[in-house]
Amino acid sequence: MTAADRKLLESFRKALAAHRLSLVYQPKVSLKDGHLGRVEALVRWDDPELGPISPSRFVPLAEEHGLIDPLTEWGLRTTLRQWRIWRDQGLETRLAFNISAVSLQRLDFPDLVERMCRALDVPTDRLVLELTEGATQPLVRLMDTLTRFRIKGMGLAIDDFGTGYSSLMQLRQLPFTEVKIDRCFVKDLPAAHDSRLIVKTITELAHGLGLIATAEGVETVEQLRSVRELGCDVVQGYLIAPPLHPDELIAWNSDFARRWPTLLSDESLELWSDVETDALGER
Ligand code: C2E
Ligand code: CA
Ligand code: CA
Repeated sequence: MTAADRKLLESFRKALAAHRLSLVYQPKVSLKDGHLGRVEALVRWDDPELGPISPSRFVPLAEEHGLIDPLTEWGLRTTLRQWRIWRDQGLETRLAFNISAVSLQRLDFPDLVERMCRALDVPTDRLVLELTEGATQPLVRLMDTLTRFRIKGMGLAIDDFGTGYSSLMQLRQLPFTEVKIDRCFVKDLPAAHDSRLIVKTITELAHGLGLIATAEGVETVEQLRSVRELGCDVVQGYLIAPPLHPDELIAWNSDFARRWPTLLSDESLELWSDVETDALGER
């Protein structure tokens, strides 16, 4: 472990204990009608000394050093409380929450999640857990735990599909409800023939197995149209919305309902080019 990592880990430990982390929420919308189906919770840490630090840096560190369970528990509790606030304001949506494969090694984890839902009065079917295959732990070994989540009514998404260790075999064997197609395949749409073929094939496979296909990282109108044509069901990315502060979601939702039809109309290519450039810098 480098000195820089050690310092980062110590600062993270303090931030977690002092509740100095926060969550932002990125909308995922239906490609059929633009309806907000769910929001993905993403953790943020802006350290007074070190500045903002990406979860891609500190989540793996938390996984390695025994801090992932407290991070997950804090995040789940925060997101379930937020769901109730939105519901009381008239917005009923589903929550997508990232779970580290490390947490799934605990056999009692599904019970813990169910108890939290019950304590905070959120129906379990409002929750979709997003899982990425860890480098050392193929998800297939976690079959029991994953099945327990499904029995309890939660949805399961396989994240970053098509990269790393994710395999077609897992889609067939494990009780997933959704496949998230990694943004590396969306990036070069619609021009790249191979990317188009991959997105189309994953989508058809997902549908054949009864799963929802979500395209991640959509940043341009051309990509949006392409993933729609290729049959994806749900879309997420800076073009739709950057990750939002929870207080921004309701206003974003009514605004987006108005803007959705223009996204698919022919004038939209011009109309949206400014928005795309703005959205690339996350708020
Ligand atoms: P992920 O689950 O694949 O999340 C999507 C990432 O892509 C997020 O980065 C999001 O801000 C970013 N993103 C969204 N739309 C676009 C787009 O159109 N273009 C591009 N280039 N990027 C886009 P973020 O928030 O930095 O999170 C990075 C990763 O950290 C996440 O990848 C997830 O694996 C992990 N992570 C984030 N929050 C949590 C958490 O609460 N718990 C756990 N265990 N992991 C988390
Ligand atoms: Ca995710
Ligand atoms: Ca992803």
